Amino acid sequence: MIVYTKQEIAEWQKQHPILKDIVDLKPVFWMNPNLKKVNETASLPITREDIEEAELLWQRFAPFLEHEFPETSETDGIIESPLRKLTNLQVEWFPAVDGEYYLKCDHELPVAGSIKARGGIYEVLQHAEKLAVEAGMVNKDDHYDVLSSERFKAFFSQYSIGVGSTGNLGLSIGIISAKLGFNVSVYMSIDAKQWKKDLLRAEGAKVIEYEGDFSEAITAGREQTNSDPNGYFVDDEDSKHLFLGYSVAALRLEKQLQQKNIPVDADHPLFVYLPCGVGGSPGGITFGLKQVFGDHVHCFFVEPTHSPSVLIGLATGEMDHVSVQDFGIDNRTEADGLAVGRPSRFATVISDQLVSGIYTLEDDELYRLLAMLADSEAIYLEPSATAGLAGPERIFPYIREHHIAMNHATHIAWATGGSFVPEKDMKMFYNKGKTLT
Ligand SMILES: *Cc1c(COP(=O)(O)O)cnc(C)c1O
Repeated sequence: MIVYTKQEIAEWQKQHPILKDIVDLKPVFWMNPNLKKVNETASLPITREDIEEAELLWQRFAPFLEHEFPETSETDGIIESPLRKLTNLQVEWFPAVDGEYYLKCDHELPVAGSIKARGGIYEVLQHAEKLAVEAGMVNKDDHYDVLSSERFKAFFSQYSIGVGSTGNLGLSIGIISAKLGFNVSVYMSIDAKQWKKDLLRAEGAKVIEYEGDFSEAITAGREQTNSDPNGYFVDDEDSKHLFLGYSVAALRLEKQLQQKNIPVDADHPLFVYLPCGVGGSPGGITFGLKQVFGDHVHCFFVEPTHSPSVLIGLATGEMDHVSVQDFGIDNRTEADGLAVGRPSRFATVISDQLVSGIYTLEDDELYRLLAMLADSEAIYLEPSATAGLAGPERIFPYIREHHIAMNHATHIAWATGGSFVPEKDMKMFYNKGKTLT
């Protein structure tokens, strides 16, 4: 870690004036000066074909997933979430917002209960497939139902998987890895939620707790996993596979919008608000949406004022070379899904050209939004997952600068987690939000 002196921070702030408010923990709205038109982006490390191949992998594994997780049978083993209209919330709380307001309900994603069901599960599945194909145990035309057999569990039990996580990533990796038969270890900081640790242990994952900052857990996890020749570490700080798993959401959303007769074109712009931790899930989804909808989609990331890691990385141009702690920001937030001090290396260079902007908000605001959504729509999210709901009211400067007509706009707040939260924790979240509204 660098940890700049006051003087050095002042120097940074001279070059990037928005850093003043960021360091002072004030909510900010940042517009990306590097935003490119889709056909003018400099070469990116992945392509639309990569997303389509990732979708095919999901389809190959659908029979396995349906067999192991009966809750996916309604969608034939495809892990997907509904898109719901937020009529009441818009009328009651966002009357000044033009256009229609929707929620992408990834809190309902089966298997993991959060957006990590996209990236995390994808990364483990692609690893499992690679091992099994290389060992000659399966080929890509087979019916993957066979992966449920004891023969495969015994095969995968020779291999280990590790992941460092504040919570949801560990849940998704732990659940799917244990199901396949891998030896899986989840490295967590001591302050990770108890119910997540309990659930992981019940599913057969090993949970290893670290006293200090989460970055210690991830460093230790990486070292221990990689010291095993049969080990595989899911590295949230630099993962192409996580990114690809998330990006597939764009193809699915395209279909859902078509089914609801919601056009996306020059007269019908689409605005998407994505809660952001390391930047993998919002980056992957933004990349996918830009491939599908081009310049008609405008994607915004949302971070807590205490964990603006991607914002600092992009605003300074330093990407993953700087952390929020370097600037004296404590990375302490109740939004555990977003409590990340340093952005993803893989995702951030891509988002640099594609994200329209980033806004930050305070933890109290997350709880307020949680209670507002619960009261108006009877939908319950974890605090991290509510961050996108503030989006339509935060982007006015962008709309003015880009002269976008908003009367036929569609807004989508991406709800990223919540359905696995135990009821008593959820009650606490809600009550806290109620006292703040
Ligand atoms: C992980 C997570 C995010 C952010 O995803 P990143 O890839 O870390 O940016 C948002 N919300 C929830 C609930 C999460 O678990």
